[in-house]
Amino acid sequence: MIQLKELAKPQILVDNALNWTKTVMDYINKGEKIPDSDKNKYNHIQVKNQIKLETKEKCAYCESRVTHQYPGDIEHIIPKAIYPRLTFNWSNLTFACYWCNNGKRNYVEKKEAKLMNPYKDKISEHLSFFGPLLMHVNESKRGEITWKKIKLNRQELIDRRTEKIKELQNLIDKYDREDIPALKTILLNEVLEFSDTEKEFSYMCKCYLQDKKIV
Ligand SMILES: [Zn+2]
Repeated sequence: MIQLKELAKPQILVDNALNWTKTVMDYINKGEKIPDSDKNKYNHIQVKNQIKLETKEKCAYCESRVTHQYPGDIEHIIPKAIYPRLTFNWSNLTFACYWCNNGKRNYVEKKEAKLMNPYKDKISEHLSFFGPLLMHVNESKRGEITWKKIKLNRQELIDRRTEKIKELQNLIDKYDREDIPALKTILLNEVLEFSDTEKEFSYMCKCYLQDKKIV
């Protein structure tokens, strides 16, 4: 999980969110089933494109790159099944992989056990990486509930993150061995690129580099 910054609301939501919400709430108030075509209007291409830009096409929770092989979709930070009024609320939308979305499901946030919100919370105050493992820090209950509930240490993620660390460590070793200054600078930049927010698992790489006193 990394800190995310909300981009401008897509025009389609500026123009329609209020009406779309009213339609959905009318169905609910009448006790009728909401047609999928009304319920799923947030799936508009404009919304999807802006969300992808905002999250750099990575899952907002596990930082996996969302691809055809690793599917993901628009996610409601506060579940729409519980708070339908937030179905088209731009601040409530992000991008998540299938597995994080599934782990989170319709978790109802309790005040004392709110999941971390990557747009509003300072992640480093609650969560940090120890090698490929994500752990809560500062005795943060919210950090703990977040990694446990979303299963952010599921085996498949640990395996992929372990591979990433190996790749990074190989490059660090190469940098350490190099004695031509110009090449050393290039290698250092390549090492630092692992923690670019564009990159997969950038927060883990940043923690790793901090641990090695490289950043
Ligand atoms: Zn994920």
